[in-house]
Amino acid sequence: MALGRPSVLPDRVPTIRELLAAGGRSFSFEFFPPKTEAGERQLWRAIRELEALRPTFVSVTYGAGGGSRDRTVDIVERVAHQTTLTPVAHFTAVDHSIRELRHLVGRFAGAGVRNILAVRGDPPGDPTGEWVRHPEGVLYAEELVRLIKQSGDFCVGVAAFPYKHPRSPSVESDTDHFVRKCRSGADYAITQMFFQADDYLRLRDRVAAKGCDTPIIPGIMPVTQMSTIARSEQLSGAPFPAEVAERFEAVKDDPAAVRELGIEHAADLCRRLLDEGAPGIHFITFNKSSATREVFMRLQPVTADA
Ligand code: FAD
Repeated sequence: MALGRPSVLPDRVPTIRELLAAGGRSFSFEFFPPKTEAGERQLWRAIRELEALRPTFVSVTYGAGGGSRDRTVDIVERVAHQTTLTPVAHFTAVDHSIRELRHLVGRFAGAGVRNILAVRGDPPGDPTGEWVRHPEGVLYAEELVRLIKQSGDFCVGVAAFPYKHPRSPSVESDTDHFVRKCRSGADYAITQMFFQADDYLRLRDRVAAKGCDTPIIPGIMPVTQMSTIARSEQLSGAPFPAEVAERFEAVKDDPAAVRELGIEHAADLCRRLLDEGAPGIHFITFNKSSATREVFMRLQPVTADA
């Protein structure tokens, strides 16, 4: 179950599409643009520490508005120029005209960024609020995928939702729209965080039953403290599974035990997903390296003399 880059690298870094098409597994880390200088230092420390694990790519989320969006572009440019890592820029349609979207895609291309994760984005302020399309913008992520694909030789990822997107009226419509988005040119998908392998496997089966074989990479966030559980619900819009919550409740007064359970739970989940043929793992890091590194190390094969 070893993860990693292919042993023989071509003379340029392969896109995620190429890596997955060659049967390779991807493992990757997600960061967000920090708001403060201290946050910036923490981000680069985490990037440098995780760089040593030679991930397939690292991704940087795109803010709902304002200055954090420029910071996303700055961070992916710096990752492209100053590290050995392959950056994936998250990119959203919120409050952007098609002209601005094209300009930003051009900026990514100029920085040598060939991998973009195209998501529609949530409304700024209240993520559950009404989604208002920019008068000269796009309505759904599938249009963003097409726009990026028409702009050059990009490898484009999209979002998938094991529990269905909170705005989708049914699992059925969610699956149909996801498949449509894949067919608009997506090369792979990354899921929203989830905590039980069966939720991912059910999503994969639903999508496969519609004749869609776009690789879906599980998004994993290790629980390191009790507050992560509430945070996961806020971020994903889905309830944390009761069975898993019970295990954490049993040790909730012992922070070290909560963290250890969280690392072991995430490692078990990743093992099962990889055994079931998931094309890799995407770790949500919150700009900290230690929990992700510990989970990652538990996935490595044990060497004979270890
Ligand atoms: P879409 O695919 O457009 O779907 C949105 C809703 O519309 C769904 O209910 C879908 O079923 C429905 N729908 C889609 N197409 C149609 C159609 N043709 N007709 C009718 N209904 C349709 N947000 C950020 O702001 N920045 C980020 O960096 C970011 N990164 C993310 C990374 C991952 C891996 C994930 C899973 C999510 C991320 N998000 C990010 C959150 C994401 O932007 C929101 O969840 C958003 O509400 C949905 O994005 P989407 O791309 O899935 O939208």
